[in-house]
Amino acid sequence: MLLDFPTIAVLGFLLCLGIAMGFSLLLLVLRRQPALRLWTASLWLLSVSLTLVAVRPYLPPVSGILASNVAVALSGVLMLYGVARHLGHRLPPWQPVVLCLSYLGAITFFLLVHPSLVIRLHVFSVFAVLLNGWMTWLLLRQAPPAQRTSCRLAAAVFGAQTLLYLIRLFLPVAPDAGDDIMRAGSPVFATYLIGLILELARCFALVLLLVERMLVDLQRLARTDVLTGLLNRGAVLADGANLLSSVRRAPRPLALLLLDVDHFKQINDRWGHLAGDAVLRRIADVLAGCVADREHLLGRYGGEEFIVLLPGADAAGAMQYADRILHALRASPALIDGVPVPVTASIGLAIDRRGDIARLLGDADAALYQAKAEGRDRTVMSGPAQRR
Ligand code: GH3
Ligand code: MG
Ligand code: MG
Repeated sequence: MLLDFPTIAVLGFLLCLGIAMGFSLLLLVLRRQPALRLWTASLWLLSVSLTLVAVRPYLPPVSGILASNVAVALSGVLMLYGVARHLGHRLPPWQPVVLCLSYLGAITFFLLVHPSLVIRLHVFSVFAVLLNGWMTWLLLRQAPPAQRTSCRLAAAVFGAQTLLYLIRLFLPVAPDAGDDIMRAGSPVFATYLIGLILELARCFALVLLLVERMLVDLQRLARTDVLTGLLNRGAVLADGANLLSSVRRAPRPLALLLLDVDHFKQINDRWGHLAGDAVLRRIADVLAGCVADREHLLGRYGGEEFIVLLPGADAAGAMQYADRILHALRASPALIDGVPVPVTASIGLAIDRRGDIARLLGDADAALYQAKAEGRDRTVMSGPAQRR
């Protein structure tokens, strides 16, 4: 097979068309990914640009070249906006616009005023280096911590594209090419071929960015209590088990507070379940306000029960912490229809250095039972008397 420029151009066009179609199908399923919309538009524009290159011999020379360059410039800028959008980074709109207009101005100048294929190829390489370098930099600098893997892999692909166009700046163009890109010579063709491979890699990198984003979103959802936004029972217990195993390695105590709102059923019965939900959210906010240390974990155990894990807290420290919570709850009555409704809670407290989370929870539950029996609105520390 003769790998001449027209063959490579047609191959590139077919590849980009396939990728653009694939991304359009993806968009049908993943409608809520704004970056995907921008990337799909960018890929369609790239297909248009490569189509115009592939059919260049059949087009009027000047308008064909200009049209393919406009399409490729817009495609690049949309790709950049898509990457910024995916990372939640706000791009000042004038920066990509200035880059795009400067590129198109230079191409027009070296097409109409001072025609030179060599300089036009250089102008394109500089544009591609700046654009790909920009995206690489964004992916490395603005990556959300939980999505570093996909951002780094995508940065590697955009970095490779930057390098490719940087190398192309120094490659010779066949002296007899004149103004015909189809006769630019094998070194330039080689960069187009490598470009095709990188195009495929870029497509996988973009999909990977989306997949990791969705995984992170799903993991967050799976760990979150929908009503209060706190950690849910599964998440707080799993984190608690991890904390206990680390506590076991380093001899630090782990305190567990199990908090149950007093007479909560009466709130539901008197004001309705929607008001009850609002009160639960208010209680969650008050509890969150009491969590001062980043190491402390707060979650909703279920119903009107909450759980707090305090790694490193001793009995006195945990007791003080529980008192602070009860005081904060007493001081922040919930407002239902403008009427202040007093809220109190009872806390069962257990501390352990070794055991498992289920045992710690059982001890705290027994202490909570005792706190309810003693009249509510108080904390009881687990001891031999509460263990059943
Ligand atoms: P005690 O002081 O003995 O804990 O009394 P209590 O009324 O708080 O306890 P009980 O277990 O009898 O009632 C808990 C109530 O919490 C019953 C249930 O309807 C209500 N509840 C559980 N989850 C939710 C929820 O998500 N929203 C609302 N509004 N109510 C809930
Ligand atoms: Mg309860
Ligand atoms: Mg209760």
